[in-house]
Amino acid sequence: MIKFCNLYSGSSGNSTFIETAQTKILIDAGVSAQKISKALKSIGTDIDEINAILITHEHIDHTKGLTTISKKFNTPIFATQKTWKQLDGLNIPSYCQKTFLPNENFSIGDMTVYPFSIPHDAVDPCGFSVFADNKKVSVATDIGHVEESLITTLIGSDILLIESNYDNDTLLCGSYPYFLKRRILGDLGHLSNDATSKLVRRLYENGVNKFILGHLSKENNFPELAYQAVYNELSSSNVKTPFTLSIAKRDSIDDVVELV
Ligand SMILES: [Zn+2]
Ligand SMILES: [Zn+2]
Repeated sequence: MIKFCNLYSGSSGNSTFIETAQTKILIDAGVSAQKISKALKSIGTDIDEINAILITHEHIDHTKGLTTISKKFNTPIFATQKTWKQLDGLNIPSYCQKTFLPNENFSIGDMTVYPFSIPHDAVDPCGFSVFADNKKVSVATDIGHVEESLITTLIGSDILLIESNYDNDTLLCGSYPYFLKRRILGDLGHLSNDATSKLVRRLYENGVNKFILGHLSKENNFPELAYQAVYNELSSSNVKTPFTLSIAKRDSIDDVVELV
């Protein structure tokens, strides 16, 4: 059995909880330790029970809580060597600093973790697939554009948290300065609702049917728009197997999904 729960999602902070029979991890800790602790408590877990935190990349919305959590609870934190260099200023105790190699499996308790490289404007950004008990759960956010290898990697996921960052028109008409719009739209920025829809459809046609849309921009997206874009794309597919589609909440905790 794997339990999966999105604690926080979006540009103001990201953190996802995954639990197996023996292991409890977080992917990213992009809000305060206090907020993460509170969210975990609400699903019956103490923050000091967390066996490891996996870091996708160095941006603050993925790393904000790390210093406090590592100092208070000595939690092992896993990131690539290049990402650790970028996180130098956070003063994380060296005994908490664990490394992994992108695109190579590693183990945490009874979990096998596959970190896969993604295109984003960070030094060594990754998404993660976690395998345990014949299940696969994947988290992929902060993706500049969809490469064929990403689709191959995500096929087989029993549940996928995928970024659906912005609505094209909302971004273009919005108040963001030009350079920021260019960054988000660029090859190393974020995925639009349209790009996510097409990616999700490809995955659905290859057997994936549980999707959570996450990392929605507060300024440049609306949950309804993201949901509708993906829903329409899935509904127009020739594949007619049932699918589950939801939006990760920004500031409150999602329901725990149990995959048995
Ligand atoms: Zn980022
Ligand atoms: Zn981010």
